[in-house]
Amino acid sequence: MKCGARLGSAPSGQSGQPASAPSAPRGPVLAPMGATSLKCPNCGAPISPKFGEMVITCEYCGSAVTLNTDGWSSVQKQTMLPVKFADKDQMTQKIHDLMDKGFLHRHLQESSTLQDLNLSFVPYWIIPVSARTSVVASNETMQLANTAASAAIWGVVLGGIGGGGGGGGGGYRGGRGGGRRVFAPSLKLNLAGTLGAAKLGMFMGGGMMGGGMKKTAEIDNNYNFPVVALKALTQYQPKNYAFSLTDRTLFDVSKVPKGIQVLNGDIGEEDAKNQAKTYVDQLQSEKAHAQYHMIQSLHTDMDVADGELLHAPIWFAKYDHKGKPIVLILDANTGFPINAMGLE
Ligand SMILES: [Zn+2]
Repeated sequence: MKCGARLGSAPSGQSGQPASAPSAPRGPVLAPMGATSLKCPNCGAPISPKFGEMVITCEYCGSAVTLNTDGWSSVQKQTMLPVKFADKDQMTQKIHDLMDKGFLHRHLQESSTLQDLNLSFVPYWIIPVSARTSVVASNETMQLANTAASAAIWGVVLGGIGGGGGGGGGGYRGGRGGGRRVFAPSLKLNLAGTLGAAKLGMFMGGGMMGGGMKKTAEIDNNYNFPVVALKALTQYQPKNYAFSLTDRTLFDVSKVPKGIQVLNGDIGEEDAKNQAKTYVDQLQSEKAHAQYHMIQSLHTDMDVADGELLHAPIWFAKYDHKGKPIVLILDANTGFPINAMGLE
């Protein structure tokens, strides 16, 4: 019965035809909040939400339902990433390669033992966020002014030494004419003089545009931000990790390798949207601070669109390092590490 249900439903999942009209932001309400049982909107199989569950994938057909403020409804867009690293030995090797490259060098090496290695499909809400950060900063102009000031001094000094109105060019010609002895030092002056002049030019430009020391800039970025839909895994929430979303397909339960669990979630889409905003706000601020040092004000505006439910294959590797646990979270699609706990 289970097999038949799976086979029968797989094509409909793959065909990309959602159960409800794609124009509707959300499917019809299937059951009210607090319901202890509902029927899968796709295959009719019983679904029994456990307390706190917010995202449930039908174990027969793979259709997902989620709890919003108005009740349970089907997830409109449900995708998955293919498992490219499915084998335990292969993954162990991959982790060791990472160790060799220094990713975990000091901590693991030979003093750690692998205790547990497990692959499962973890639900993530992928939230599209477009962010515009306005930055008013003073450092760039100041730094330029400092450099330019010293360049100006050098320009004056070198101009004087280089002699004549020609500056660098004159020096070079002089060197050529004067024979070998003079040639080397003149050439040096020539290069330095040119540099000085270039910076002096920047200085003047800076002064003209500056007026004051403030500089306003905008940092725009679009994200497909992944928010893990399981509270128990929030500590492994990716901060600046992007799944290889171009590899994703519509979720098809028949493509889940045998024996691998598809985890349900307890974080709903609305909560995920708020979290995504918080994380993106942080990221934008970090990017701004990496670019400008003396930030006077910073403001980020964000547009958040409806998300999709991504089932990402994730390896959990648990090591024991002298009695302390180290947990690694790795992307079974790319083999890349997403997060690690217990390394410090
Ligand atoms: Zn179903």
